[in-house]
Amino acid sequence: MYDIESAYMRFLGRCHIEHAALKAVLFDMDGVLFDSMKNHTLAWYETISGMGIPCVREEFYQYEGATGKGTIDHIYQRTYGRDATDHEVEYIYGEKSRRFNELGEAEPMPGAKEMLTEVVRRGLIPVLVTGSGQRSLLDRLNRVYPGVFAPERMVTAFDVQRGKPDPEPYLKGLEKAGVKPFEAMVVENAPLGVRAGVVARIFTVAVNTGPIPDEQLRRAGANLLFPDMQSLAEHFCNLKF
Ligand code: CA
Repeated sequence: MYDIESAYMRFLGRCHIEHAALKAVLFDMDGVLFDSMKNHTLAWYETISGMGIPCVREEFYQYEGATGKGTIDHIYQRTYGRDATDHEVEYIYGEKSRRFNELGEAEPMPGAKEMLTEVVRRGLIPVLVTGSGQRSLLDRLNRVYPGVFAPERMVTAFDVQRGKPDPEPYLKGLEKAGVKPFEAMVVENAPLGVRAGVVARIFTVAVNTGPIPDEQLRRAGANLLFPDMQSLAEHFCNLKF
């Protein structure tokens, strides 16, 4: 059921590639390396509903992976029929970030450390690919997982024009790793993020660490789906290749 090797071989077959080896693993951050989505969705909900705009907390799981501006524009289009101005985006994202920081530090995702350790042990290149522009989380990444992500192997909101589901963040990640799409694996927890990995033509593994139905991750095109990071780490440690 969770055979990473077979799924990767099937993926290579569909790409008409006979010989390839995995060289890099591209990790999303929120909901993959940190159990931070509960806090993100609450911060968004409080910020947007506090402005008198009707919304529900659960919908913010659907926008996960988009940039702050992408999420705010979506809400503005629905409510006012237009994108937010730069000034509005700056204010609202600032307010959301402030509330997020007040909620305290998100816990590391169980299983993430084991997964990263195995990636490093195998000599694979770990790359961070996040839509987040929150310095607090990026700093914490280096404290919780020291020495794993080299600064030149991190793609954040500051590096891309278009957020997920656009493939740009993952294409940048491949560039930073110096590998071809079929030599990498993406680890994602959100439908928009899975879509971005798939459109970038990378082998994309989904971990469903949140409340959204598995079906949404499958429909986004995930090559393989795990219920959490622990089970991914366990199966990854047992890989033969
Ligand atoms: Ca995520």
